[in-house]
Amino acid sequence: LEPNYQFMVRLRIPGGTLSKKQWQGIDRLSRRFAERGIRITTRQTIQLHGVRKPNLRALMQGIRDLGLDTIAACGDDSRGVVCGSNPSLSNVHHQVATLARETSNRLIPKTGAYPQIWYREDHPPKDDEDPQYGPLYLPRKFKVGYVIPPVNDIDVYGQDLGLIAIIEDGRLSGFNICVGGGMGQLDTREDSYPRLAEVLGFIEADQAPAFAEIVMGIQRDFGDRKDRHRARFKYTLDRLGNDWFLEELASRRGQPLAAARPFQLTQNGDPLGWHQGDDGLWHATLYIENGRVDGALRDQLEGFFQQYGGQVRLTTNQNLQLTHVEDHEREQIQWRLDDLGLSPRLAPDQQAAHTLSCVALPTCGLAMAEAERYMPDFLDLFNRLKAQYGLTQIPMTLRVTGCPNGCARPYLAEIALTGRAPGLYNLYLGGSFQGDRQARLYAGNVSENRFIDLMAPLFEAFSQRRHPQEHFGDFLVRDHLLEAAPVTVMPR
Ligand code: SF4
Repeated sequence: LEPNYQFMVRLRIPGGTLSKKQWQGIDRLSRRFAERGIRITTRQTIQLHGVRKPNLRALMQGIRDLGLDTIAACGDDSRGVVCGSNPSLSNVHHQVATLARETSNRLIPKTGAYPQIWYREDHPPKDDEDPQYGPLYLPRKFKVGYVIPPVNDIDVYGQDLGLIAIIEDGRLSGFNICVGGGMGQLDTREDSYPRLAEVLGFIEADQAPAFAEIVMGIQRDFGDRKDRHRARFKYTLDRLGNDWFLEELASRRGQPLAAARPFQLTQNGDPLGWHQGDDGLWHATLYIENGRVDGALRDQLEGFFQQYGGQVRLTTNQNLQLTHVEDHEREQIQWRLDDLGLSPRLAPDQQAAHTLSCVALPTCGLAMAEAERYMPDFLDLFNRLKAQYGLTQIPMTLRVTGCPNGCARPYLAEIALTGRAPGLYNLYLGGSFQGDRQARLYAGNVSENRFIDLMAPLFEAFSQRRHPQEHFGDFLVRDHLLEAAPVTVMPR
């Protein structure tokens, strides 16, 4: 008798774009094979939790029949390519989304083992089948993301390789590239840490997919294969240095990087609600709390999609976009959203819209504390605390994870809690609203009550000394409040 194992299945959805039929198909598969519904992830894809082992192959074949797969969604490989742009907002957005898809196709393993195992197709793996990965694949996962300023919705500085679109005279000139981002860390090791990617130069737009392959190849060849906790690209760069990387890169490309060009990021949440693209089509972003689609929401969306003709897109903030809506269809779609009780999701509470959590307990085996299940109560408490100091109208990026691994990108938030034990979290403060400054550890092993005690004086100071339009994280840094951490800081 085999143990009754269950699995999480994560799809590969480059840029998060799905047809309506694919969404409906995933919904049907999740109802049949996954015990815990659909979860939209922070990497713009879908996870199906609670899949029993005997159902795995049927589910994988169902995913294939939808024109999708799970290749490189997990494992020591390219791990999906995220793209912050709604492909239909403008020509530039469309170009970037196309490059993201090309990059994903270029970086995924081409192994014949996948169809052989899951589809029972007879493609015996050849020795030379996957020259990009070789027999050993990568030392660890390698994350790539494209972003279009001024919206840093993908948290580009958290990517192993980030490509920042440079738009000049309304045209896509190319990309600034940033390397070495990564959120994961262990609280038990001093030499394990989150790191922000650094901007090192500029490339022409059409070079981007090949460029990503070259950078991934450098990490494949020089990443640490002896110590798994130091195997991410950020440690390779810190060990060998940026000068070494730029030299290696130039020798593999046959040319050095051009100088980085100016750009500005202003926020990292999703622009929610209705927006019109350059081509006149409309796009509506619906807020999905923690990306969780189950229960009543799943039924509401099932009803909605029966009469919806547009497309669907997932965002890296775990939300759902309805895209490609014609002008004459918009009113009818709005009525439908109203009828089904979905329209409040177009304009949710601003704080909720800037809040993320990971799945944590009971789903993730690494979780040491609650995150997603705790979030509704915690957000309520957080909002009440803000209201006490007149800060209700000021959104703050807030993230909670069940362990220090950082799946909800906590170290880029203005306020973050990472799980240590049931009911206890490390508190990080001082990231920026636009996600370009790293938060720092402010206090260790913080309970809910301690969190209130710590935050209350900071909120009070913010309400009294805030500059116009200033964000909380910027205020903490400007007012030197992080340097005066009043509590014992836990060793990492
Ligand atoms: Fe699991 Fe930790 Fe990632 Fe949360 S942050 S999903 S607890 S590994």
